[in-house]
Amino acid sequence: MTASAWRLAGAMFLGLAAASGAMAAESADTPASAPAAAATLPAANPDAPVMTDVRMVGDAKRTRFVADLSANVEVTIFSLPDPYRVIVDLPEVTFRVPEGTGDNGRGLIKAFRYGQISPGKSRIVIDAGGPVAVDKSFVVPPSGGQPARLVIDVVPTSRKAFLDTAKAWREKEEVAAAAQRDRELVVPEKPPGGKLAIVLDPGHGGIDNGTHGATGIHEKDITLAFSKILGQKLVDTGLYDVFYTRTDDSFVSLSDRVNFARAHHADLFLSIHANSFPVKSVRGTTIYTVSDQPSDKMVADIASMENQSDALAGIDVDKKDLGEVKDILLDLTRRETRNFGVVFAQNLVNELKGSTRMFKVPHQQAAFIVLEAPDIPSAMIELGFVTNKDDEKLLLSDDWRQKAAGSVVNAVARFFKTHVARTP
Ligand SMILES: [Zn+2]
Repeated sequence: MTASAWRLAGAMFLGLAAASGAMAAESADTPASAPAAAATLPAANPDAPVMTDVRMVGDAKRTRFVADLSANVEVTIFSLPDPYRVIVDLPEVTFRVPEGTGDNGRGLIKAFRYGQISPGKSRIVIDAGGPVAVDKSFVVPPSGGQPARLVIDVVPTSRKAFLDTAKAWREKEEVAAAAQRDRELVVPEKPPGGKLAIVLDPGHGGIDNGTHGATGIHEKDITLAFSKILGQKLVDTGLYDVFYTRTDDSFVSLSDRVNFARAHHADLFLSIHANSFPVKSVRGTTIYTVSDQPSDKMVADIASMENQSDALAGIDVDKKDLGEVKDILLDLTRRETRNFGVVFAQNLVNELKGSTRMFKVPHQQAAFIVLEAPDIPSAMIELGFVTNKDDEKLLLSDDWRQKAAGSVVNAVARFFKTHVARTP
């Protein structure tokens, strides 16, 4: 996906339009906004609190973020730099707010996103235009027919102060992370004679919608629908075990996707995405593999946008625990793996060009984090451009999905036929 995709288009933010003076009235006001088409993100738990409205008041000196909730919640708030974000972690919440809520900010807030971050946990990620400090945050319990209110005040601060706050939080988190490291991923021996294992990775999910097309369908839904069709076709051959990094609308971090593939001894990893581009005539399917040298500027941009998934979801991307290979043997393995990835990508191009229209340069390379497993041949398929009318139609067509998935199955078979000594 591309730069334009993250610039969320659409409906205006509904809420208090008053200037900073309205802030003091928050404890007594009721929002005067007209209801728009509601977008509901239901929680798995039907008893989860419901967020019904969000509004912002104030200006560049102080901006107040207010969310209405059907019940009291406990929140954890922290900040992450580059880009400047304020992260609000909540227990599981059903979001029932007008479509487009979060697209436009106010004052110090540029925009915000919301959704599920892990089972039983929801999150709001607030994008700040610059370094901000959370001056005040509290939850007003429901009373007298009024909903509960989560209130967060942000004020400008210096970059240094912002970084110091983020660092203090990070150090606290390190204690918890140390316990996690003790349980670090152990990849056991693969059982001999088992089927070949393929990990399918439907891009985005949960709080990270990915890009969207004219019909408003999210990339995360397109990728999941296609992955399920493809997975079934692969299973039907009787040759493969298929594992999915996600099977529902869940957020999975990029490193967890890679770790999942390694834990499942994947013989092949295929990440499924859909693209977008400001020029609406651009269309076609593209295959990507990982390389430190991007094919060109456009691909480098696409990779950095796809790599932003974690940042968008409020994951601390500063940890950089992936992609650093110091061991020389591992480096050799990685090089060989990358070559296999390229072979797989060429198979994909050859098979898919029989069933669909390919992008003018159908195989390209860049530093995609999700393709970084040092020992698993990996490729990404960007099915098409949701910003192109014709491509979008195809992406939503069952007929096309079946045909394209069939081509991918052939490409997988061809890859294993020539490049794996071990046969199932
Ligand atoms: Zn994507």
